[in-house]
Amino acid sequence: MKNTTRFLLLFVGAALLCACAAPSKRAALMAQAAKGQANQELLNRVKMPQSQDPQAKSRPRDVTVRVLLAENQKSARIKHTGKVYIYTLNLDKKYKISSPGTLAVKALGNGKVQVGTLQSAKTVVLEPAVNTLLGWNNNSYSGKIFIIPSGKTFHLVEYVPLETYLYGVLPYEMSHTWPLEALKAQAVAARTYTLKSLENVKNQHFDLYSDVRSQMYKGGGKQYDSVKQAVDQTRGEVLTYQDKLFFTYYHANCGGGTDDVRSWNPSLKSIKPLAGASCKTDSHSKSYKWQMNLPRSKVETYAKNVGLSGTLKSIKISRKTDTGRATNLTIRTSKGSKTVPCGKFRLATGIRSCKITKLSVRKKDVHFEGKGYGHGIGMCQDGANGMAKDGKNYKKILKNYYPGAELQKIQ
Ligand SMILES: [Zn+2]
Repeated sequence: MKNTTRFLLLFVGAALLCACAAPSKRAALMAQAAKGQANQELLNRVKMPQSQDPQAKSRPRDVTVRVLLAENQKSARIKHTGKVYIYTLNLDKKYKISSPGTLAVKALGNGKVQVGTLQSAKTVVLEPAVNTLLGWNNNSYSGKIFIIPSGKTFHLVEYVPLETYLYGVLPYEMSHTWPLEALKAQAVAARTYTLKSLENVKNQHFDLYSDVRSQMYKGGGKQYDSVKQAVDQTRGEVLTYQDKLFFTYYHANCGGGTDDVRSWNPSLKSIKPLAGASCKTDSHSKSYKWQMNLPRSKVETYAKNVGLSGTLKSIKISRKTDTGRATNLTIRTSKGSKTVPCGKFRLATGIRSCKITKLSVRKKDVHFEGKGYGHGIGMCQDGANGMAKDGKNYKKILKNYYPGAELQKIQ
């Protein structure tokens, strides 16, 4: 860990928020700060033990996010590059190892775990000292790793400060070699998305997955300079609409224009920043245009899974948006026909997007041609890259892809 100043207290309370908010917005922001506080309470419902590292006191506070690294493990080997503190939540068992090494973690089969020399039926915490990183599964982590016993297995959950979490998200959602202003736009989008996700946590032990179910995350220990700059230079900045956080969706390539969030999921509420935007800077990417052939059997299997058996006869776009993105497809087989949401069809079959420009059922396969990659909602990452290359800053990029949203610094 290079310095301690990167940690941030986002929700420091209404007083600080008032200092940066126009009077008309104070009430809403105070309400939001209160929500942030509620989130903190939510996050702390698993008892947080006192830090065992004396140097950790110098770290400014930040929102803690709990990221699920792995579920139902039977064993794991966790490396530590320096001093590590190992203890149970109530500190009835604790010890430390001062030099680098590897800790063996094992489920004992009786509801207990063994972590190094410590056996426990309760959660065991691995707290790396300030300059230590924990290594697992080829990723490195600077947060505390909680080993949570669960029957004959255990879960690994990292408790990590929000800004450090973002260091480990950005490079896997956007290339670290892209222009800084595109990375900064991604940092604001990812930060907003994360905080919005914390408003409605469903799982008892964690807030976020470390994969596409939340955002890709491979640990905040490995830091790219460009990513660190992008996160640090936008520290605490989030997007709001009508003074509320919203899900700042993003995707690889929109194929020349994004769409209303309802085109992807009709049950979601459309708001101005998620109602579609123009995109003139994404055609340089190889994701802009695509074609692929799906075996007929793949489409037939999908149809069968949604209740339509038979031999595939035809598949047609039955509804699409103004930008040409299919919202519904109608599949016809020897047994009948069924209309399905294209978004679900895309996820099940792996077609790159629903902006389908050509579709034909052939003898052996189904031929698709289309534009873009992903759901086409919110920020188009290739378009953000193109805008940054054209000299636009991250604020302009965010304004283009989330029209009507405001950049707020909650710090
Ligand atoms: Zn685009």
